[in-house]
Formats: sequence, structure tokens, C-alpha cells
Amino acid sequence: MRKGRIDYRMQRRAVLRDVLAGLRDVQDVRDAHPDLVRAGTHIGSDVREDCPLCEDARLRHVTYVFRDRDRRAQGGRAVPRESLASQLDRYGDLAVYTVEVCLGCHWHHLVESYLLLARDTAAG
Ligand SMILES: [Zn+2]
Repeated sequence: MRKGRIDYRMQRRAVLRDVLAGLRDVQDVRDAHPDLVRAGTHIGSDVREDCPLCEDARLRHVTYVFRDRDRRAQGGRAVPRESLASQLDRYGDLAVYTVEVCLGCHWHHLVESYLLLARDTAAG
């Protein structure tokens, strides 16, 4: 089950507003790590909308999983979204982060985060 979903659309809009208003350098938000761009290319899922900065249609969502719920573990792993169920079976509870990345200009931003739990702990 999914739990504790956080939506980062408001933060995303605020960043874009600042960039468009010239309050923030566009290069600061087009600095996706090469690993993120690579993950977006190979295992990212297509996003219906275009990049908000360059209008490139190659906008992708990349799913990261962290085994430690508190994110103390070193680094998450980018995984295909379709594999989440099997990741949960194999590793147990996961923290999941969805990141948007543009393959054209390297814009990137966090989209959502949530916990994927093997069972409903609140019920136990
Ligand atoms: Zn772009």
C-alpha cells in the first residue's frame, strides 16, 4: 500500500515562476546529474506534458527507491516503475521518489514521494 504521499507540484511551480521572472538562473535548474539523465533515457516513463522550460517532448519520470525509510541509507536506486511490486516483494518497505527530468535541457525536479509498504502497519 501507498502511504504518506507528498506532492511537490507547488514547489515546482514556484521554481519555474522564479526562473521565468529572472529571479533564478535557468542554469541552476538545468543541472540534472548524468546518472539521472541516463536513467531517464533508459528506464524513465514518458510524461504527457512537454518540458516546462524548453518545450522538448522528451520529459521523463524516473522512479527511485530507498530501502531505508528514513533515507539514512546511502543513495537510492533508479528502477523501472513497473518493477515496484517486485521490488517491494524482494526488499520490503520502500521510500519511493519520482523525479522529472528533461532529456533535452536537463531540467529536473522532484514530483512526488511516498512510502510503499508491504503491509498496513497501522492495522497491526
Ligand atoms: Zn527541457
